[in-house]
Amino acid sequence: MNTSKLIDGKAAAARVLAQVKADVQALKQAGVEPALAVILVGQDPASQVYVRNKILRAEEAGIRSLEYRLSADTSQALLLNLIGELNEDASVNGILLQLPLPAHIEETRALQAIAPGKDVDGFHSENVGGLSQGRDVLTPCTPSGCMQLLQDACGDLSGKHAVVIGRSNIVGKPMAALLLKAHCSVTVVHSRSVDAKALCRQADIVVAAVGRPRLIDAGWLKPGAVVIDVGINRIDDDGRSRLVGDVDFDSALPQVSAITPVPGGVGPMTIAFLMKNTVTAAVQQAHAQRSHLEALCHSIY
Ligand code: NAD
Repeated sequence: MNTSKLIDGKAAAARVLAQVKADVQALKQAGVEPALAVILVGQDPASQVYVRNKILRAEEAGIRSLEYRLSADTSQALLLNLIGELNEDASVNGILLQLPLPAHIEETRALQAIAPGKDVDGFHSENVGGLSQGRDVLTPCTPSGCMQLLQDACGDLSGKHAVVIGRSNIVGKPMAALLLKAHCSVTVVHSRSVDAKALCRQADIVVAAVGRPRLIDAGWLKPGAVVIDVGINRIDDDGRSRLVGDVDFDSALPQVSAITPVPGGVGPMTIAFLMKNTVTAAVQQAHAQRSHLEALCHSIY
């Protein structure tokens, strides 16, 4: 295999995490201890693994973590109450509500309850709106990780034609907004697009976030395209379970100039950017607190 074309997400995530760790140390010396609260409602097995990994990465980076494991029958009122308490707690900088939630809890209501400044997943409408206006706000972790990989692989993205396949609130839409912010021409294709394949074949950059194993093969790709495969799909391969992306890696590889593998591509970047967002939130809150104290002093003296 031509490994020179591989975009190594593990190595990129290690670089982000090393910077986060150094920043956390510097912040602690300045009297700021970044802290992340993670809330898990219910016992979804995949969510339990994700939460465990997030807590582990936080500890490795020196970020204090608080874990709230609530039973699947937790009422919406109790969850909103907990979020409210964490919003008020000045020692907590980031709040992550692990999705999916049990059916009796309104996801939007719960996500909107998180203070925008502590919304390290970037799902609050204030952050979504800020991103679409091109402001520097807390931004969803997976698309942020994809942008870092693209910038590492391509340098300046300005003027490139990017096709995002998928329009979810978690990946596709924020990805399109970030590419636009980086001055790309952006096309979003989705399940209702007419000839998504032909649109995709025009792209310099393809970001696949569909959730369909190996949907995108060489026929979807322009020669020399850069491909970011967000998909994580578990398939049965001759009686063995394994993970594959939305891109047919073996078919795509000869056609592309660079591509992320699955696993080992986008996945590690998501957690790395969660840690980065937690540090960003801690810094912004420390600034806000300092400005508030300064304003208070000016009004006194
Ligand atoms: P989703 O189901 O919410 O959205 C899928 C999107 O794909 C939809 O907008 C739909 O319109 C589009 N789509 C479906 N079939 C299509 C087709 N044939 N052609 C074009 N578009 C089509 O999924 P999601 O939450 O955005 O996740 C997408 C994939 O990314 C999943 O495999 C998920 O597991 C993975 N994911 C990975 C990470 C990570 O950290 N690497 C994070 C989030 C999601």
